[in-house]
Amino acid sequence: MTLHQPLPHTDAAARPDFGPGFAAELALELAPMSLPGRIRRIAALGRAVFTTSLGLEDQVLTALIADTRADVRLVTLDTGRLFAETLALMGETEARYGVSIEVFKPWKDEVDGFVALYGMNGFYDSVEARHACCHARKLQPLGRALADAEIWVTGLRRGQSGNRANAPLAEWDVDRGLIKVNPLADQSLYALQARARADDVPVNPLHAKGFPSIGCEPCTRAIKPGEPERAGRWWWEQDERRECGLHLSASVSGSRAQPKVTSSASATADI
Ligand code: SF4
Repeated sequence: MTLHQPLPHTDAAARPDFGPGFAAELALELAPMSLPGRIRRIAALGRAVFTTSLGLEDQVLTALIADTRADVRLVTLDTGRLFAETLALMGETEARYGVSIEVFKPWKDEVDGFVALYGMNGFYDSVEARHACCHARKLQPLGRALADAEIWVTGLRRGQSGNRANAPLAEWDVDRGLIKVNPLADQSLYALQARARADDVPVNPLHAKGFPSIGCEPCTRAIKPGEPERAGRWWWEQDERRECGLHLSASVSGSRAQPKVTSSASATADI
């Protein structure tokens, strides 16, 4: 794995051909394609970055990228609070597929600032504190990870939560000025589990212990039978729409012929 030291933020060069209309057309184009076909098409679009959290969806995507030899950078956000199982899976995945996963970590002064203000585990005390922690440990590194990206590839899936029920295959990320592609948006959990088993894709052992969605260790618990997939994330908060913020930027959905601006709080394993 490649550890990235803090770098100054550099904006990706603007792509005049990209925008809401392009995203809408891309979503329509991707819909009938096979998953390998989608990955190849996405990689051909430009500089693509896949943010993996090593969850089931992301492991299937990593396998697809490796198997198709698609030119897509693999990056992950190591928040410093991940499960040991997640960190171990990173090395196992690199060895299995012969790929390198670039690791982006939070800046020390950002974490120190959070700890000074709220305490190391202050995220339990208020939504404000939790968002501040997610900002320092996830959103800030995500900005660096996507600094040079024209296309952001995610493992969002519509079935992960109500927030993500309308996740399109492609959308225009207004805030980041890039095309966000969710090639597994229309896939079921069952189908991805079956694919992972058939292709012997390495998966996080926590999935088998009741963790369908895996994030930071102090903020993730196993779910009970019948609970929604993401009920174990920030379980102490009451807001059913809770997210870490990675997928909350304003976007223009590519799932409609007439694009409309939405708040895209789509889908796991989103670190
Ligand atoms: S999930 Fe929890 S530990 Fe991880 S960045 Fe967010 S608040 Fe901090």
